[in-house]
Amino acid sequence: MLQLDLQLNELKKVLQKQKAKRFLLELPEGLKHRAFEIINYMKDLKKDFVLSIDTTFGACDIYETELQKTNCQAIIHFGHTKFVLQKLKQNIIYWPCYYTFDNSDIIKITKDIEKHFAKKKITLVGPIQYKFVIKELIKELNKNKKLQYVENNKQGRLEVNQILGCDCSSLDKIANKLNAIIYFGDGNFHFNALQDLKAYKYNLNGNFEEIAQHKKPKYDALFLEAKTIGIYVSSKLGQNKIKIAEDVAQKLKSIKKNSIILYGNEINNDKLIGLGLNMIINTACPRITDDYRNYSLPVIDYKEFLELHKKYY
Ligand code: SF4
Repeated sequence: MLQLDLQLNELKKVLQKQKAKRFLLELPEGLKHRAFEIINYMKDLKKDFVLSIDTTFGACDIYETELQKTNCQAIIHFGHTKFVLQKLKQNIIYWPCYYTFDNSDIIKITKDIEKHFAKKKITLVGPIQYKFVIKELIKELNKNKKLQYVENNKQGRLEVNQILGCDCSSLDKIANKLNAIIYFGDGNFHFNALQDLKAYKYNLNGNFEEIAQHKKPKYDALFLEAKTIGIYVSSKLGQNKIKIAEDVAQKLKSIKKNSIILYGNEINNDKLIGLGLNMIINTACPRITDDYRNYSLPVIDYKEFLELHKKYY
């Protein structure tokens, strides 16, 4: 059975060498319940820990300005690889964590893939936690030769076989040569980034779920009618696109629409109530607009805005 290994023993060795006495723990929502397990494991190191209870969706959520306020000297960021490529002054330990597996898991998943995609050209992708599962599967598939496995590329901040909800560039050079992209991962957050590709999600019951194309509403008419528009800018280091927001604001001004830049850690419906806005243009994580049903206002991504602007003005 696949199990997420926090590799606490290895982490302990890393922390032992750290001068830092107090660490700020950043855990994704799905791992926050393991905070005490981590802290208890490190007990004999005589270090202190503070848990950030703010949401941590990706390695774009580095709370780099919080060290001083929490009297911590280093951040331990669980569940993701380094995302922000600029050099940060703070001491940040990225601790991705990987799924472990039994050989029987690999044999079973390989058989499922071979049964569904015999003689086809495929590639495998997933978030970083699946790195070693995917590596093992590729070995097995290449050994059996019942289909053609096509390598995807290491690209920028991505590792080979890795995708993020905002970056699938490892597939750029091969996507049009493939019959299927098989995705391994929990939930649909990263999977949804494979829109418009021949993508399938593997479920452990042996099924392959084809990606459901988002039929997002067409916002052309609402955009044309909108008089006052909020431009959302995230305070999260890896999502902050203030320059793009300024450019969007300029473009809106030139077409005689009022706009306001909305700045904050997170955006949700409650935060928008009473602001008198007709629409939101999102410059933060592109997956935000997947949740359009949760908003009482139309929410579009800035790239969609640029298309609308080009089309109508
Ligand atoms: S911007 Fe969104 S998809 Fe990209 S790393 Fe952050 S949370 Fe994940």
